[in-house]
Amino acid sequence: MKNFPKYPLYWRKNDFSIKIFCSIPNIATGILLKAGQSYFIIDPGDGILRDLNKEVGIKSLLEISDVFISHGHHDHVGGVWSLLTYWRVMNKKTPLSIYFPKGCVEIKSIYNAFNKVYSKTIGYKINLEELTHTNSFKRKSVLIKPFPVIHKEFLRDGIKTRNIPSFGYTFTYRRKKICYGGDTAYCNSLVVNAKGSDLAIIEAGHDENTPSEMHMTLSEAKIIGETAKEYFLVHVPE
Ligand SMILES: [Zn+2]
Repeated sequence: MKNFPKYPLYWRKNDFSIKIFCSIPNIATGILLKAGQSYFIIDPGDGILRDLNKEVGIKSLLEISDVFISHGHHDHVGGVWSLLTYWRVMNKKTPLSIYFPKGCVEIKSIYNAFNKVYSKTIGYKINLEELTHTNSFKRKSVLIKPFPVIHKEFLRDGIKTRNIPSFGYTFTYRRKKICYGGDTAYCNSLVVNAKGSDLAIIEAGHDENTPSEMHMTLSEAKIIGETAKEYFLVHVPE
């Protein structure tokens, strides 16, 4: 197989849509969800500001209220500093919430550094929503359900690994459900949450046909994707 997804990937049902600008492992992810007139950002990797500026323009960009982070790897959070700083420079007024799994030190560290540098000149409120539970909650008529997935990173020796806090999310709006799995090995929580969803966004980040503890193979990802009404396979190594 070398069937790379061709970005951007776009899916829409009525006024509920999602655009995946990019999802390339170790490079960048960038996803925009739109429900009615509300925009949510998911996993803002490097390049997200450029893509959002082109897609929604300055006015809508300044009104974005919610950012969802699956985990702290650079290809999922590399654009957070740019966004926070852009909003400061462009004089964002409305509050911002950033949701991330408990223990995701990257988001806290980026926020702390940003706050340290610009504390006296930030004109908008930032709520760090460290998710310590997986209960559903509502934002702008969208029901959000975080769920834990299994993801790891290598230690310095490049052989040993450790688990990292990592979530997938489902987003439900007007009875349509999108399941975004984030980065994960094959796991039951993803199987359960992807099943029956209107769109499942499933990573296939492991490029061999032997199962991995970190990412899914293409065949594992397809098995899960096919339980949804439609699916995208993303995060395929290029
Ligand atoms: Zn990752």
